[in-house]
Amino acid sequence: MSSLSYSKHLFKLPKRSADNGLVRKVSSLFRQWDGKLSQQLALENSQFGRIPKRLLPDQTTNMTCGFCATGCGLTVHLQNKVPVNLTPNTHYPVNQGKACPKGWEALSPLFSPNRATSPMLRNAEGILEPVNWEMALRAFTAHFKQIQQNYGAESIAFLSTGQIATEEMAFLGALAKFGMGMVHGDGNTRPCMATAVTAYKQSFGFDAPPYTYQDFEESDVLVFVGANPCIAHPIMWERVCMNRHNPKIIVIDPRTTETAMQATHHYALAPKSDLMLLYAVAHVLVENQWIDQKMIEENTLYFAEFEGFLRNFNPARASRVTGLSISQIHQLAQLIHEGQRVSFWWTMGVNQSHQGTRTAQALINLALMTGNIGRPGTGANSITGQCNAMGSRLFSNTTSLLGGHDFLNPAHRQKVASLLKLDVSQIPDQNSWPYHQILAGIETGKIKGLWIIATNPAHSWIQQESFHELRKKLDFLVVQDMYHTTETAQMADLLLPAAAWGEKEGTFINSERRIGLLKRVSQAPGQALADFYIFKLIAEYWGCGGMFREWESPQAVFQIIKRLTQGQPCDINGIDDYVMLEQQGGIQWPFAEKNTVIEKERRLFTDGKFYHPDQKAYFLFEEPRVSPELPDEAYPLLLLTGRGSSSQWHTQTRTSQSNVLRQLSPEQIYAEIHPQDAETLGIDSGTSLLISSRRGSIQTTALVQPTVQPGQIFIPMHYATTNQLTLAVFDPYSHQPAYKACAVRVEIHKS
Ligand code: SF4
Repeated sequence: MSSLSYSKHLFKLPKRSADNGLVRKVSSLFRQWDGKLSQQLALENSQFGRIPKRLLPDQTTNMTCGFCATGCGLTVHLQNKVPVNLTPNTHYPVNQGKACPKGWEALSPLFSPNRATSPMLRNAEGILEPVNWEMALRAFTAHFKQIQQNYGAESIAFLSTGQIATEEMAFLGALAKFGMGMVHGDGNTRPCMATAVTAYKQSFGFDAPPYTYQDFEESDVLVFVGANPCIAHPIMWERVCMNRHNPKIIVIDPRTTETAMQATHHYALAPKSDLMLLYAVAHVLVENQWIDQKMIEENTLYFAEFEGFLRNFNPARASRVTGLSISQIHQLAQLIHEGQRVSFWWTMGVNQSHQGTRTAQALINLALMTGNIGRPGTGANSITGQCNAMGSRLFSNTTSLLGGHDFLNPAHRQKVASLLKLDVSQIPDQNSWPYHQILAGIETGKIKGLWIIATNPAHSWIQQESFHELRKKLDFLVVQDMYHTTETAQMADLLLPAAAWGEKEGTFINSERRIGLLKRVSQAPGQALADFYIFKLIAEYWGCGGMFREWESPQAVFQIIKRLTQGQPCDINGIDDYVMLEQQGGIQWPFAEKNTVIEKERRLFTDGKFYHPDQKAYFLFEEPRVSPELPDEAYPLLLLTGRGSSSQWHTQTRTSQSNVLRQLSPEQIYAEIHPQDAETLGIDSGTSLLISSRRGSIQTTALVQPTVQPGQIFIPMHYATTNQLTLAVFDPYSHQPAYKACAVRVEIHKS
C-alpha cells in the first residue's frame, strides 16, 4: 500500500485488506468514545484551572527549563494567567539566577505560526489536510492494527524523544509495549546518551551518573573530554567559573573549542585517539604507583587484568597515535595524580564514537584507580544532552523496562507486571532493537508502521539520506509534534498536534539526577493536546484504555512511577508529590525514604558500594580500533561535527522560531577550516564551499580560523544538510551513532 494513498476516510480500510470485523470494532469504539473525546478535550483544557491551589501562579510561577539537561529553574511571569515573560529562578540550586539564551527565550517557540494546531491526514492526492481528532485516532488505530494483522505485532515501532515529561514517556512505553503489543521502540536519546548508559551499566551495575553540580565548584582538577560546556552547557560552565580552588582545567579535544580557550591545559589530540591517550595515562599512573590501592582492593574488580593490559600502552605508542608528545602524556598523568579532588567530565565527543563505550569506561577506570569517586569534587561524570534524556533512560520502556528494570530478567518482569496489575505475558521478554536496527527493520520489510514522537530524524539522523529512503518503505508513518513544519512532520501520513513545554505538566530529570517540575502556564494552540492526553486517547481507541484507568493525570502517573522504582537504585518513594518537588527546588534520586534529610546537592557511591550484586565497580577495557573512515587521496580532510552556539538547539526546530535566538547565530551553514588548508585551497572566510563525502555534497561558507587543526574541518550539527555527509557507524555496545569523524573533500563552489 502506498504511504501516500490515504484519504481522510482511510479508516474505511482498502478493499483488498478489508476486515469488516476490525472496522466494526473500530466503529464501535468510536461510538463509545463519541462524546468522551470532547470531555477529554475539556478536561485537558481545564487542567490549568485544576492545578492545586498552592501551585497556582499568581503573578509568577517556577518551573524547569525545557531545552537542555542542565535543568535550570525559570520563573514565568503571568498577567491574567497568560505568560508574558520569564527570568532565571534565583533560588533554584541548579542555576542560581542564571540562564543561557535558550532559557531566556523559552516562551517564544510556543507562539510560532508553525505550530501544529489540528491533526493532519494525507489525502488521496498526497496532501496533508486538517481532520478532527476522531478521524485522526480512527486512522491511527485502523492502520496500525491492519499492519499488525498483516505482518505481526512487531511490525510497528516507535521512535521517541528526550524532550517530553517522564510521565508521558512512561505512558508511551507502557501503551506501546503492554497495550499495543509492540516490541521495538527507541528514542533520540540513542544518538545522544546511549554510550554513557551502557558504560555506567557495565561498570557500576546501573545507569547512575554519580555527581552533583556542586562538584564543578569543589574539584581542584577538572578534566573535560569531548565536551564544550561553554557552548553546550553554559550554566554548568558558570558553576566551574564559581570554583574557588583555582582549579586546573584540562580539555582533551581535537578542536580549540571555547572551553579549550579558557582551559589551563588543552590537549589537542588527533580525532578519535582519546581511548589510546586515556590508556597511556593509566599506564603512567600505574607505572608510578599513583593509584589508590585501598579503593581498588576494596571496591573494584578486574584491576589486575587491566594492569596487565596497560603494559602495551606506553606513552611512546600513544604519542604516535594521538599526535601529542610523550611529555604531554606524562604531564597529563601528573596533573591527575597531583589533584586532591579530580573530576572527569565527558559528553558527545566521547559518546558519539565508534568506540564510545570503552572510551567512557577508560575515564571511569581513571576515576576508580585514583580514588576519585564518591567524594566532593570527583567522579566519572557524563553530561547529559536533552532536558529529559535522564527520564527517558529510566522510564521510557525502551532500553530498560520501566524504572530501570531489565526486560530479560523474569523477576523484574513479574515485579513490574504486579505493580501495574498486568499479566506478565504482556511484558516483552526481549529487548527492543536499538534505533538503527529499527531503521534496518524498515529496510528489510519487518517494520511497516512507525510512530515518531517529538523528534526530527529526517534532519538529525546520521547519513541522513538513508532515513529519507526508508520512508518510502513504510506503509504508515505517524508523527506527533508541536510543529507541522519539521522535515519529519512533512513526511507523515498522519500528524498529531502536540502541546509544548509550558503547555502541560509533568517532571524532567536533569544531568545530576534532579527531578524538576514542568508546569502548564500557557494554552496549547488550536486542537493541540499534551502528549499525555494523546496517549490516553490512543489507549481508548486501541481498546486497551482499561489498562490505564489509574493513569488519569501526570500527577497520578508520578505516583505509579514512584512505585516502579521501589528497591531500585533510583528509588524515589520518599518524594510525596509535585508540591514537595516545588517546595524543595527539585530532588535528586535516590530518595527512597520520606525521612531522608533533604540536601540541595547529593552524589552517589559515598560508601564505596556500587550496584553490581557484589557491590563492586568493574574495570572494563579493550584494544582500541582504528576510526572507520580515515582521510585518503579522494577525501583528504576529516569532518568534525558538534554544537555551534549556545543559542542553537539540535535541529533548531524550536530555537529557529525565536527572533532573538536566530540573530545570535549564523543563519547559513558554515565550515571552520584551518588557515594552512585554506591557503592551499585558495579559500578565504566567506568563500562558498562544496564539501563532499562518500554520501553526498553540500554547500557551505568558509570560516578560516585555527580552531581546527590542519587536515580537519568543523561543521555545526544544527543545519539541515550537515548529516548528508556523516557516516552511519555505531558503537558495538551502545549502538550510538559515531557522528564525529568522517572523510571529506573541500572545493570552492562555483555557481
Ligand atoms: Fe535551559 Fe539548558 Fe540554558 Fe539552563 S543551560 S537555561 S536548562 S537551555
